[in-house]
Amino acid sequence: MRLDDLLVEVRACRICADRLPHEPRPVVQLGGSARLVIIGQAPGRRVHESGVPWDDPSGRTLRAWLGLTDGEFYDPDLVALVPMGFCYPGKGSSGDLPPRTECAPAWHDRVLDQLPDDRLTILIGAYAIGRYLPDAGNVTEAVGAWREHLPSHLVLPHPSPRNQGWLRRNPWFEADTVPDLRRRVAEVVGRTPG
Ligand code: SF4
Repeated sequence: MRLDDLLVEVRACRICADRLPHEPRPVVQLGGSARLVIIGQAPGRRVHESGVPWDDPSGRTLRAWLGLTDGEFYDPDLVALVPMGFCYPGKGSSGDLPPRTECAPAWHDRVLDQLPDDRLTILIGAYAIGRYLPDAGNVTEAVGAWREHLPSHLVLPHPSPRNQGWLRRNPWFEADTVPDLRRRVAEVVGRTPG
């Protein structure tokens, strides 16, 4: 299937429309030559409204970790942004609800099949880790063992401002993991690390 046709299909998806608190608005970025794939959780309310993925404080931190400019990050032929749930799932009693479970089984294989095989996949959060590295343990265990998942996958904690406590408790992440991440990301997007 042509990538453009797949994107039209994704954007028209209503698989779980009756379980969302709003009209579906899938937020995905995809180009046929993207060798960097970021599999996060699901859009938040702000991203649902703007339609721009990672258009929030978490996204700014993520781009800083990756060492990418906004222009690079939002170039679909450099970076594919494929959350576990493409639509904002709504709010629960303690923050946003989990990504809709229907979404990744319905779409991920078809979306990822469009991308080059020699890609680096960044996994963010428990749902992405659970699908792609099911034996890696919880988020802290999976991020702590980040070298074991290379060269195909790199696991990150969530870059949310609410995660500052985790970053303070695990200073090795910004000291060791982030510089290695930047080097690998620069290589897959085809430039010298900045
Ligand atoms: S969350 Fe995924 S499966 Fe559900 S309507 Fe949106 S695109 Fe479709």
